Amino acid sequence: MLTFTGKSVYSAVAIGKISIFKRRDTEVKREHISDIDAEKARVAKAKEYSLAQLQTIYDKALKEVGEANAQIFSIHMMMLDDEDYNDSINNIIETQQVNAEYAIAVTADNFAEMFATMEDAYMQARSADVKDISNRMIANLSADNIEQSVTDDKVIICADDLAPSETVSLDKEKVLAFVTAHGSSNSHTAILARNMNIPAIIGVGDEFLAQIKDGQNAAVDGFTGEIYIEPDEDTLARMTKKQAEDIAQKKLLLELKGKENVTLDGTKVNIYANIGGVGNIGAVLQNDAGGIGLFRSEFLYLENDDYPTEEQQFTAYKKVLESMAGKKVIIRTLDIGADKQVDYFDLAKEENPALGYRAIRICLTRPEIFKTQLRALYRASAYGNLGIMFPMIISVSEVEKALQFCEAVKAELKTENIEYSDNVEIGIMIETPAAAMISDKLAPMVDFFSVGTNDLTQYTLACDRQNSNLEEFCDTHHEAILRLIELSAQNAHKHGAWIGICGELAADTTLTETFLRMGIDEFSVSPGFVLKVRNEVRNIDLNK
Ligand code: PEP
Ligand code: MG
Repeated sequence: MLTFTGKSVYSAVAIGKISIFKRRDTEVKREHISDIDAEKARVAKAKEYSLAQLQTIYDKALKEVGEANAQIFSIHMMMLDDEDYNDSINNIIETQQVNAEYAIAVTADNFAEMFATMEDAYMQARSADVKDISNRMIANLSADNIEQSVTDDKVIICADDLAPSETVSLDKEKVLAFVTAHGSSNSHTAILARNMNIPAIIGVGDEFLAQIKDGQNAAVDGFTGEIYIEPDEDTLARMTKKQAEDIAQKKLLLELKGKENVTLDGTKVNIYANIGGVGNIGAVLQNDAGGIGLFRSEFLYLENDDYPTEEQQFTAYKKVLESMAGKKVIIRTLDIGADKQVDYFDLAKEENPALGYRAIRICLTRPEIFKTQLRALYRASAYGNLGIMFPMIISVSEVEKALQFCEAVKAELKTENIEYSDNVEIGIMIETPAAAMISDKLAPMVDFFSVGTNDLTQYTLACDRQNSNLEEFCDTHHEAILRLIELSAQNAHKHGAWIGICGELAADTTLTETFLRMGIDEFSVSPGFVLKVRNEVRNIDLNK
């Protein structure tokens, strides 16, 4: 038996077989091939696919950023179609009898060097483009080679790390637990695991992957952060018992269903749930959440290969609102960027993506995307009790602009005779120190604040939430964070707004009393934590 230890992000026990998550291999290897025609056919197929992708990107860019900015994609299409480029690839395959990936990589290097040495600055710049189109071709060549690691049985997924897009693409029905060598507890992957009520351990270290094999038996202890490989009889018996006890304990909490979120002294609070998509609603209802305090709408974008249309979004939002039958549903507008990357957005690579072009910054500068989402949201508002909130706010002017978008969209719907509700609450996330510090100015502009402690922590403590080496420095209870939350609560109430917490700290029951004393009105937590927080609230006496 081998034992590895990491940090638990969801406390539960899983026992089952290991499945190592295999990612597409992007490293190009030189391989000898015997069927030259088949290899050329692969190139032709990848080219056709790449051209179609580029056409889609071009069309979107044309609509959103105009002809001048979209032009680069038509240049890419022309380069892909270039006779010399294609002849070079096919010649290398033919004369050297090598695989398509290698032929493309060599061609890319040759052409990039040729462009780089030209006198003309415009031609020099094409050097990066030829690399770009070649990388696209190589990625598309291997698209049909992605290894599927999940079998028919439920498995414990083990990986070096998982990106949010990879996590959402896994078939949840088949995942017993996640264990990753890297990662941090506030990362979106960890949040997704929590939302799915799946035991998850992160940061078990590099040795882990080197020592495990597909199909081995394992037991995951999401309480202690341990994973046992080929557990011995005693360990297996202990883990089976612990699993049964955990299930029984969670059943006990279910007795709190239907009970009020009220402290011993009679203070009432709302306990809502966080979701990433329509698929989480079952868990919200099962755990008796009073509403949805955070719908991370970007997961609709992450699950898609292209921008979700107004109709697709409308259908999803309407479904959530109808399922919640009049209970509050707060949908956060698109929060893409940083670790939540979507290829079709074609965002430039950034040195510091968490401090980069993301969330509201994308929405305000790519108005077509924002307007499409707001139209879908307002149309859906006719079917329930909607709240809309904006992420990553740092200034008054951003809120002003976002509100202007809302007004414009409402006016548009009115002229088109399309129904929407006049009672949509508007809120902003307090997830930057800037927003907390100017919360006195922001509060009069909105109906509510929702504190995103995950980002507020990373920006206040200068600790990248993706960096697993910083866990010991990233003190989520740091006085600076608590003071910023308290300041925001005071300012919200001064101006008649309410305040909730929707970051992971909302589920930290060691802070529930502190937050209640600050006047926090709402906690929004992963569905599996709703009853745990209710239990805590019901045992607190604020008069003591
Ligand atoms: C947060 O930052 O606390 C938050 C709720 O948003 P997200 O985790 O999606 O960034
Ligand atoms: Mg955030």
